[in-house]
Amino acid sequence: MSNGGSPGCGPGPARAQRVRLPPVTPINTSRNPRAAHSSVSGEEVSAVTATSVALLNASYEPLGKVSFKQAMRMVARKVAAVEEAVEGRTAGPWPWPRVIRLLRYVSPTWLYRPAGWHRGGVFIRDGHRCAYCGDKARTLDHILPASRGGEWSWLNIVAACEPCNSRKGNRTPAEAGMRLRFQPYVPTRAQLAARA
Ligand SMILES: [Zn+2]
Repeated sequence: MSNGGSPGCGPGPARAQRVRLPPVTPINTSRNPRAAHSSVSGEEVSAVTATSVALLNASYEPLGKVSFKQAMRMVARKVAAVEEAVEGRTAGPWPWPRVIRLLRYVSPTWLYRPAGWHRGGVFIRDGHRCAYCGDKARTLDHILPASRGGEWSWLNIVAACEPCNSRKGNRTPAEAGMRLRFQPYVPTRAQLAARA
């Protein structure tokens, strides 16, 4: 007989309601918020739509830009709807988005809250560069080694190249005679988005 359901992992329907957004690149909205998307036109827009789609809050307030792929994912998941489309172009069953709008209002301050820790975010925060030498980073390094209680956290994990990571080994930077090029910090979602 089988007992498939694992105890700590119930269906939890109440938790599924939260709107999850991809990284959003904030734009300057200090002026007239409604003008921000309607004033861009022509060549300016075609340059933007090649890689990104403007994202509006449910209130039409511009939140920033998301990638085309992320925009389509949000439309497919019914998190957002196409608000302005590129004429004569489609993306599957949908019009090709130039501007999408969230179906539910999200507080813009949310963007400026600390980002939840995730491995990929460390590479983004550190620009995919080794925190010790600046070379291309493909590994993550515990500043205080995991074997000595170092946590997986924004403040204890940095991107590192393989040579630096193995040179450092099971030591702290000081013990290994290595210097961090910057002090690790907890990024906001907006900061990650701006670097992604
Ligand atoms: Zn390195």
